[in-house]
Amino acid sequence: MKIIISNTKKFLIKDTLKDFHCKQGLIKAKDLKKTKGKIKTNKGEEFFILKPEFIDLYQKIKRNAQIITLKDIGAIITETGINQNSKILDAGAGSGALSCYLAHIVKSVIAYEIREDFAKTVKTNIQFLDLKNIKLKIKDIYTGIDEKNLNLITLDLPEPWKAIKHAIKALKQGGFLVAYTPQITQALEFTNKAVKTEKFVHIKTKETSEREWALKGKIAKPITPLISHTGFLTFLRRI
Ligand code: SAH
Repeated sequence: MKIIISNTKKFLIKDTLKDFHCKQGLIKAKDLKKTKGKIKTNKGEEFFILKPEFIDLYQKIKRNAQIITLKDIGAIITETGINQNSKILDAGAGSGALSCYLAHIVKSVIAYEIREDFAKTVKTNIQFLDLKNIKLKIKDIYTGIDEKNLNLITLDLPEPWKAIKHAIKALKQGGFLVAYTPQITQALEFTNKAVKTEKFVHIKTKETSEREWALKGKIAKPITPLISHTGFLTFLRRI
């Protein structure tokens, strides 16, 4: 596999012997055999050949459940300070996007997914990204958590408050419990119920917004459509 990349477009190219067609033109199969340097489409657009890195493959994973955005993954990483020593539980795994991204930077990830059909997609994505440090379980997190001493639990499911009592036992002291919820009312119920146990303090609830800009020659303007609201992130800390 390789990627071909220009200022406007990126494609992941499988090792096939076929010509490649895109809006930018046609690239001959024999040109695609090259492993470095640049190639031109028949319309004259130039692409550079690169070896795929994690992010190139990540952007191609299979999706069924709505996946978390990169800006929200970024906020989870930076607010919790997780690193190569961290042990994490992610539920529900959905398409496995968050589980896989976190596995790429931490020690180990346990992913819980209640639906078998979604779990299959998660498995496919783990294999595609060649991640060896994710354990996937078909399990309802509202019924309990098997693991102990976790540094972080991330919850992306409709009723995160139902996992609070299990998270109390599974998290290390000082560990984080993070819920990603589309509605602010969910964030409120989650926070209130967690704080009431006196086992958590509320660090913050926030949403992040992102505005990407198009830069070319004299043009410098925000790209539309903007990513607007995705979800609220609520950060709690086990005390
Ligand atoms: N963060 C994921 C998307 C999660 S979508 C990603 O980035 O890919 C929410 C998922 O939670 C769905 O797949 C749903 O089946 C699962 N889910 C809902 N309730 C659950 C529960 N009680 N235990 C485990 N998984 C659950």
